[in-house]
Amino acid sequence: MTCRYFLGAACDCQLCQHSVELQDGLRYAEAHHLQPLGSPHDGPDIEGNVICLCPNCHVELDYGVRTLRMEDITVVLGHVIDERFISKRAIQHTAVIVESA
Ligand SMILES: [Zn+2]
Repeated sequence: MTCRYFLGAACDCQLCQHSVELQDGLRYAEAHHLQPLGSPHDGPDIEGNVICLCPNCHVELDYGVRTLRMEDITVVLGHVIDERFISKRAIQHTAVIVESA
């Protein structure tokens, strides 16, 4: 599932509306699975389980820096988010190694 499937060329972050424009003019966004894929979460790779985010919002959700609420999501016309997957949200990463110079 990619963001272009339901966002088209816009690719604005569905949380902060930031858009990353690449040098070739294309827009960049990352697909975020509300219920993560793979074991032990076993979320499905379907439209209702995906929102598109900028890299910053994506990592904040994956590392549990922020909590996702349905009312924070900008819904795109024709994209139906299945709210059941928000309640199954799990933090995917629990450790971060930060090196300072
Ligand atoms: Zn964002």
